[in-house]
Amino acid sequence: MQTILNADLHCHSVVSDGTLTPEQLAPRAAANGVELWALTDHDEIGGQHRAAAAARAAGMRYLTGTEISVTFAGLTVHIVGLGFDPDHAAMVQGLARTRGGRDERAREMAEGLARVGIAGAYEGALQYAGNPELISRTHFARFLVESGVCRDTNEVFRKFLVEGKPGFVPHRWARLGDAVGWIREAGGVAVIAHPARYDQSATQEYALFTEFMAHGGQAVEVVTGSHTAAEAVKYADLALELGLAASRGSDFHSPDESHCDLGKLPFLEGRLTPVWELLADRIQ
Ligand code: AMP
Ligand code: MN
Ligand code: MN
Ligand code: MN
Repeated sequence: MQTILNADLHCHSVVSDGTLTPEQLAPRAAANGVELWALTDHDEIGGQHRAAAAARAAGMRYLTGTEISVTFAGLTVHIVGLGFDPDHAAMVQGLARTRGGRDERAREMAEGLARVGIAGAYEGALQYAGNPELISRTHFARFLVESGVCRDTNEVFRKFLVEGKPGFVPHRWARLGDAVGWIREAGGVAVIAHPARYDQSATQEYALFTEFMAHGGQAVEVVTGSHTAAEAVKYADLALELGLAASRGSDFHSPDESHCDLGKLPFLEGRLTPVWELLADRIQ
């Protein structure tokens, strides 16, 4: 299949930390020209059957998707899974375990915020969570913006939700090998999400990519809403050097918060192998 395809293989719905339902996202993607779509909620596949049906109704092809939170060498990294069987037991159970720690973490985050005078943040954040099993920092950020503590979610993260700040709670997510394993066992392809967003040295990055590949990971996000043009070139070069396929996705969360809308991003360069080439028989 061609690299010049409006594929958007990374975005979020109310099933994780997006603000639109799968039924609202699909027509929005189609209106923006998306031809091949995947909904990739954090640690969740509860929206997959709805998203596939909504894609069909909107005239788009569909790949199943998720974005798994992973702890690798003390750092949180995100692994996108595409084209897997959404009913596969290893995947369903692995993601349920990964989600499991979120509620306790959210309560601890609220305790940290209470210590600096912000009361009721757990209950406040929960009001914004479309899925109570998937309470995330994004929901805290929306609560702090709506209650007037900060101007926008970026400011909330900077002041309260990143390492060293009062609402940050260190957390152990899934292991890299487990996340890649669940995706592969369920027949899908594992993709390193937005690699430029991890605060890591070149040595650490090399370790991440080599371990990811040793576990059977096959692709990397090259064009994403969170990469600059220069970063896209850097990871296109790296994909070719390592023999990885390339993915493309907006990482859209909300019309009010996301600077990159569904499908509105540069095409993959022609020298790359698009990840959808590896997934031709998984496209619905
Ligand atoms: P969590 O999985 O609970 O740690 O939340 C991670 C989510 O927070 C990411 O998927 C993003 O949607 C969001 N996020 C992370 N950093 C920022 C930031 N600086 N500004 C806005 N949203 C962010
Ligand atoms: Mn998110
Ligand atoms: Mn991510
Ligand atoms: Mn994402």
